[in-house]
Amino acid sequence: MARATRDSLGAMPSRRDARTYDLKDLRDRVMRESGGAVDDSIPQLAEADPELLGIAMVMPDGSVRTTEQADVAFSVQSAVKPFLFALALLDTDGEVLDRIGIEPTGEAFDAIKLESGTGRPPNPMVNAGALLTAAVVDGDGVEGRNERILRGLSAFAGRELTVDEDVARNEHLLGDRNHALAHLMRSEGTLRISADDAVAVYARACAVLVDAEALAVMGATLAFGGVNPVTGKRVVPAAVARDVVSVMATCGVYDGSGRWMRRVGIPAKSSVSGAIVLSVPETLGAAVISPPLDEQGTSVRGSKACDLLSAELDLHVFGSLGD
Ligand code: GLN
Repeated sequence: MARATRDSLGAMPSRRDARTYDLKDLRDRVMRESGGAVDDSIPQLAEADPELLGIAMVMPDGSVRTTEQADVAFSVQSAVKPFLFALALLDTDGEVLDRIGIEPTGEAFDAIKLESGTGRPPNPMVNAGALLTAAVVDGDGVEGRNERILRGLSAFAGRELTVDEDVARNEHLLGDRNHALAHLMRSEGTLRISADDAVAVYARACAVLVDAEALAVMGATLAFGGVNPVTGKRVVPAAVARDVVSVMATCGVYDGSGRWMRRVGIPAKSSVSGAIVLSVPETLGAAVISPPLDEQGTSVRGSKACDLLSAELDLHVFGSLGD
């Protein structure tokens, strides 16, 4: 499909092409990409099908477009982080911003490092930050917070989500670096619940089951100012959605965020399950799932799909390359 071009008046055509864009052809082309390795931090992730590839897109009118396999369930993993940040902003009325940085780190997602001088997690898109955002949502104890998070994520997705309890248990048991980070934050006074409780809540959030379609609706809810375009319900205030999408743009792809923003130009969040969620402000939400990851922990085929979507639908938020 040809890229969008400027018309004779120099105005950009509307991005409505997304409604007729050939997603099946996109999937076929992305399938030709190879390389990367499936994450093996827990057995359930290691067993993921490397050939799984699902793509979904959600339009402003709430219509959803999908490829085959967009209904295959996987654990959301780090793609949950923007939504945990949103719930934390909502439940603390923005006060969480005093307890967490919003600067990119230039380091891996699970680096054992806090902001120097303050002892705060560097940003909500790395594990330290997500351990904190999960810990400050409303709810009593681990159970109450789990409940609140599952309800909040379900509102973003527009349907009742469930948890893979085996993934949650393994993430909790085997997440040594997350335990280390939680203890470090305890020692700095940044984390106010027990380190083990914080890891338990975060692990269960990572174990929430989604599919490309649900994740695309979640991304769309952020893209459309906090209103779920499928259910029509407001999930978070517009100011919260804007804060979250801003931090996705600067920190969502970890130490690859700068290169991602230049190349793809879409606020996004990657995850070890191989999912990428995209929020194109006021335009669309999308998600891709393909488990093999590059060195930055970003899905190889997912990344290719985002490149093509951005170029062919002219989605780079900082503008078109022209004709
Ligand atoms: N559950 C994973 C962890 O905390 C999530 C990390 C990710 O998706 N990058 O290690």
